[in-house]
Amino acid sequence: MELFDLGGRVAIVTGGNGGIGLAMARGMARAGARLVIAGRNEEKNARAAEEMATTGVELMTHVIDVTDEADCYEMVSATLSRFGRLDILVNNAGMSIRKPPEDLALAEWRQVLDTNLTAAFVCAQAAYEPMRDAGGGKIINIGSMMSLFGAPFAAPYASSKGGIVQMTKALATAWAKDNIQVNAVLPGWIDTELTVNARREVATLNQRVLDRTPAGRWGLPEDHEGVAVFLASRASDFVTGATIAVDGGYSANI
Ligand code: NDP
Repeated sequence: MELFDLGGRVAIVTGGNGGIGLAMARGMARAGARLVIAGRNEEKNARAAEEMATTGVELMTHVIDVTDEADCYEMVSATLSRFGRLDILVNNAGMSIRKPPEDLALAEWRQVLDTNLTAAFVCAQAAYEPMRDAGGGKIINIGSMMSLFGAPFAAPYASSKGGIVQMTKALATAWAKDNIQVNAVLPGWIDTELTVNARREVATLNQRVLDRTPAGRWGLPEDHEGVAVFLASRASDFVTGATIAVDGGYSANI
């Protein structure tokens, strides 16, 4: 089997209907994986499936709210019913509520933590048994530069993304015995729906990102295609508990 070949493999991507998730799905599809695109918005799911049709990939969409535990388990069982296996889980669904910490309601804090961190844990739990029983699997969690740094508008987001890194390490140590590799990708500043709003709400953000990023540009969703294929494939079988920044050098810079 080729090092980066995903032929015969089945991947779930939460929040796979747009942005970084869709790009990761596209990369894995190109490498031969069959896909489950899972997101809340049915229309966006359908549009993503249409766009992916050009790759010739075998794909299903699934409507899910990742903050609902039952939905996460249902997503895994729907995948097993359709494809008979689950090899790769990308915990990508995420959101932010940008406010100074003193203005945040507890419900807002919980919404961000539930979506970005707790849901990733629940989906990983739901994926564990089928992966273990099949002899292995790959879990890819999506962190952020906020896994490493803080920002005045990002207390719950940074807490959730810092948590993603530590959860990744804990799951990696627990499930190495089952041949399940668990890694995290930390995207830099990427031009998506999520950051369009951030740029609007935080006046100086655009220039600050350009000034600090050695590559001299914002990232694009497609910058994540390769890292998804690497972490989903045999090429990364001895890589677990790692965090890989895809940030044009942002986190290496002073
Ligand atoms: P988008 O807003 O384009 O994508 C977010 C995705 O998450 C959407 O597909 C959305 O689906 C899904 N989602 C959100 N909440 C839920 C939920 N409760 N249940 C199911 N799906 C949900 O943003 P990005 O592509 O930028 O973000 C993807 C990931 O990358 C996130 O985890 C984000 O934190 C992370 N990231 C992004 C960076 C950036 O600069 N853009 C930088 C660092 C990390 P739907 O619309 O159907 O609800």
